[in-house]
Amino acid sequence: MDCIFCKIVRRELPSSIVYEDDLFMAFLDIHPTVKGHVLIMPKEHYPKLDETPEELVGSLFQLVARLAPVITHGAGAEGYNIGVNNGTVAGQVITHTHVHILPRRGDDNKSLWESSEYSPGELEQYWQVIKESVENNQDS
Ligand code: AMP
Ligand code: ZN
Repeated sequence: MDCIFCKIVRRELPSSIVYEDDLFMAFLDIHPTVKGHVLIMPKEHYPKLDETPEELVGSLFQLVARLAPVITHGAGAEGYNIGVNNGTVAGQVITHTHVHILPRRGDDNKSLWESSEYSPGELEQYWQVIKESVENNQDS
């Protein structure tokens, strides 16, 4: 498979691995948003989070919850953000499911979240359509 992350799994590309087991691998991002930026991925190739088997996603996030504070501590940081870019519009570049761990420090001057305002009535519209979508999903 011509996928950069699959090549990392197969050791066809070098990477700085910090954790590995039968199912998952965690390694340093080569273009870090913050120092100590780590990616955690299933070794098996699935293009997106919502195309990854639910059980594997469960195990992936258990591992993320376990490793994120350890990575943060190791990187000498005080907190962390967890991110998944899913789909091109969301900034996903590598179509092999992965989770970003971003160790945060008080002086890193990163602003990852930009907030905005709804126009009048807009929040209620989004509430309605998202609620409907979730309810229809529960029916199916
Ligand atoms: P995403 O935008 O969520 O698809 O993130 C892909 C991430 O993979 C980016 O942050 C890249 O810097 C990182 N990346 C790309 N190639 C490599 C590589 N060979 N080793 C480590 N990280 C990589
Ligand atoms: Zn892959």
